[in-house]
Amino acid sequence: MFSYLNHAHFILLISICSLLLSSACAFSPSTVLVDLGVITPTPTPDPFFHYRAALQPRSQNDIEALGPLPQYHVTAQLNQEGDILQGVEQVIIPAPGPEVVFRLYPNLANYGGATQVTSAHINGAPVNLEPLADNTAIRLIVPPTADDSLPVLATVNLAFTVNLNSQPGPDPSDYTLFGWDGPVLSLPGFYPTLAARQNGEWVLTRPPAHADVLFNEVALYQVDLTLPRAMVVAASGVALNVIDNPQNDTRTWQISGGPLRDVTLIAGPFQSVSAEAAGATVTSYYLPGHETAGQAVLAHAAASLRLYSDIYGPYPYAELDVVESPLNVRGMEYSGLVLIGEDLYQEQREYLTFLVAHEVGHQWWYAVVGNNPYQHPWLDEGLVEYGAFDYYRGVFGQPAAEELLTGRWQIPFDLAAGGGVDGAIDRPANAFNPTTYELLVYAKAALFFNAVREQLGDEIYQQVMQTYYAENRYRIVTPQTFLATAERVSGQNLNPLAEEWLK
Ligand SMILES: [Zn+2]
Repeated sequence: MFSYLNHAHFILLISICSLLLSSACAFSPSTVLVDLGVITPTPTPDPFFHYRAALQPRSQNDIEALGPLPQYHVTAQLNQEGDILQGVEQVIIPAPGPEVVFRLYPNLANYGGATQVTSAHINGAPVNLEPLADNTAIRLIVPPTADDSLPVLATVNLAFTVNLNSQPGPDPSDYTLFGWDGPVLSLPGFYPTLAARQNGEWVLTRPPAHADVLFNEVALYQVDLTLPRAMVVAASGVALNVIDNPQNDTRTWQISGGPLRDVTLIAGPFQSVSAEAAGATVTSYYLPGHETAGQAVLAHAAASLRLYSDIYGPYPYAELDVVESPLNVRGMEYSGLVLIGEDLYQEQREYLTFLVAHEVGHQWWYAVVGNNPYQHPWLDEGLVEYGAFDYYRGVFGQPAAEELLTGRWQIPFDLAAGGGVDGAIDRPANAFNPTTYELLVYAKAALFFNAVREQLGDEIYQQVMQTYYAENRYRIVTPQTFLATAERVSGQNLNPLAEEWLK
């Protein structure tokens, strides 16, 4: 089996051989290689090779460090009319328990598509599909083994179709998270996704329109997506192969990576430009004619990736893609992938800097360190809002950062609070309306983190953030995780601040 591992040994072998041949050496090459520990006598193929390609060298062992993870292999093809994705998926689930639940994200009102799972097998046996949560999820019962115990592994095979003729939410002119919008096809969560589990319960929340949609635990992913040849795909993870299928003028994009919280793909007639930052390749994808803004997006994305790597801890992935998308003036975060609204590439470029810094910050607070976005949306949103303070301070200097703090968070919050719009930050997403969500989950939460920093001082605040990141990579945290970490690292009592701001 060909793999990077064998390939690397081969190159090493050739180079050491030529070294040996050029000098008068009495040893045979193979003796020397074994003695140097360069090759093991019986090399074993790396079962995680495909996923590891998406990790930076220093993060190569992150997969093993987490213990057994679910492994997805999704294969999907767009039909000729372009309105249906036909797919099959295999998910290998360690220690599955008596039942497994998959979410069908496209069936949520937020996405407005329609997914149907047409068949399901577990360990080779057909199983029933029980719809849950208004058909936005399905439950499968895991068949017991011959001795009536639960299997140690469940291999789930599903067949599914996704209708991409999305029925947009309340305001159809506004923005598109899922499906087609002009020449761009957005596919977050298009495959049946294992539901997250908290305190033994499957999380099947149907979030309001103003909240984030995906809430997943990390997994290992391979996705093979076949699309018309002219479409360029930007995706989480890395593209291991792009295969031309001349018989029907399509291309198959083989995407791989993990541990990832999602694999999201977006396809369109994109052009791109790349740079290296913090050990990763950052690529900015933009629509034809938007190169100037595409270059500006690349510069901000690379600079914020460097800055957050320095102040929080290393970015684990080999790539970060930042893509112009039909989100109006909004942005959206996925694992290893950031979307920036197309309006900012044309008319309102003054907001690009902030939005890119915000969305790139989500690679630390959403993608690597996860939290329940339905229950505690302020936790990641507040951190990435306030992370932009560090970005502005690092890139434009202290006065620009202070201006951001005052203009973006303090003044809007003071005005609103003066008008009676205030309240607790730590509430579920559905306890807010779009206005209070923006004001409290974003602005007031950023001001809370500013208050924490003012109490702890710059140096200790940074130690808190580094510890919080290092200890919770690939996990799901709660507000209590943050507060307990901050108190432990600083030795200070943060209860009064938490009472004042969060409750
Ligand atoms: Zn955000």
